Amino acid sequence: MKRPIIAGNWKMFKTPSEGSAFVDEVMKLVLDHEKVDVIFCPPFTALFNMKDAFESGKHFSLGAQNCHWEESGAFTGEISVGMLKDCRVQYVILGHSERRHIFHEPDEWINRKVHSVINGNMTPILCIGETLTQRDEGETEAILDKQLQLGLKGIDSLDNIVIAYEPVWAIGTGLTATPAQVSETHQQVRDILNQLYDTEAVENVAILYGGSVKPENAKELILTQGVDGFLIGGASLKVDSFTTIIENVELSI
Ligand code: PEP
Repeated sequence: MKRPIIAGNWKMFKTPSEGSAFVDEVMKLVLDHEKVDVIFCPPFTALFNMKDAFESGKHFSLGAQNCHWEESGAFTGEISVGMLKDCRVQYVILGHSERRHIFHEPDEWINRKVHSVINGNMTPILCIGETLTQRDEGETEAILDKQLQLGLKGIDSLDNIVIAYEPVWAIGTGLTATPAQVSETHQQVRDILNQLYDTEAVENVAILYGGSVKPENAKELILTQGVDGFLIGGASLKVDSFTTIIENVELSI
């Protein structure tokens, strides 16, 4: 099994001071859980404050929730890869379903962002996933195929990429995909990637699951075939639930 990755997506929650206190507390509690890579993805405003807590080489890193693909310019409200780098950000979540559905981000923009993040020597966490209607209509594999083909267009190597499979219907809803659904879909993701990249690269790429992961289901999900870690929203906001998930993952591997 690969080193599991547990990424917490805070969305639009926590002020910079709340975020720093939270990270300090979590780090103290899971400092010894060195078998798991933990990524904190706070809102942009918290990143600069936090950067000193993340010294390189430890199993904790800082992630952002989005970025713009241009280096700089007249893009009111946007943040560039260089700005994130200055805050010691190592990962950037791209194509989250909330960006796709609420802010109507097309695959073409997501692809530009993937290129910029990789060119900036950071790692994109590329989110893909189907809606409930798409699943019910048997379109899951076609949707994932489209999101992967377009999101990764022009990307030659999977070396610095993390994929997060997040069924839209399971995000923030309390509904979790069953282990059978998760393993089947993660296999579909690998099959799609196998058409684009060589077998070894596809075996090595981390595919996270996201969608109502919580302490109660973390053990079962981390042991599910093809799952290399989690992208967690709601349960990453509380010290108890986030640290328990990290502990449960470390104990299960
Ligand atoms: C997410 O925001 O990526 C997510 C998976 O949220 P939640 O864990 O709350 O479903």
